[in-house]
Amino acid sequence: MSDCIFCKIATGKIPSQKVYEDAEILAFRDLIPQAPTHILVIPKAHIASSAAEITAETAPIVGRIFAVIAQLAREQKLESYRIVNNCGEDAGQTVRHLHFHLLGGISLGAMLTGIQE
Ligand code: 5GP
Ligand code: ZN
Repeated sequence: MSDCIFCKIATGKIPSQKVYEDAEILAFRDLIPQAPTHILVIPKAHIASSAAEITAETAPIVGRIFAVIAQLAREQKLESYRIVNNCGEDAGQTVRHLHFHLLGGISLGAMLTGIQE
């Protein structure tokens, strides 16, 4: 999608700090990190604007994204971490290109769950 910021990152039109890349998946550091390790993992293709659009056809790449996340977590020496997907505006989604946050390197507690304590 021409006006999608993550499509532009995927094609290199917007620079990013890449930590993993293959033919289908890109992982890069979040611009405004909310933890010492804050990585975004995306399918390079704009296969879904949010997790709500995942289908049986696109589910396999989501599985591969989770395998990449597990590999990145090992490489980053994260013993504990959180995988976040904000699905929809009220859940905090700001970029409408499917993406998963990998957060770690600090005791996360209840932060980012959206639950007010
Ligand atoms: P969301 O709020 O949609 O779940 O997550 C979008 C994330 O993308 C946010 O954490 C935000 O900081 C990050 N982000 C937005 N624009 C850019 C950008 O141009 N570069 C990078 N690296 N991250 C971005
Ligand atoms: Zn996109």
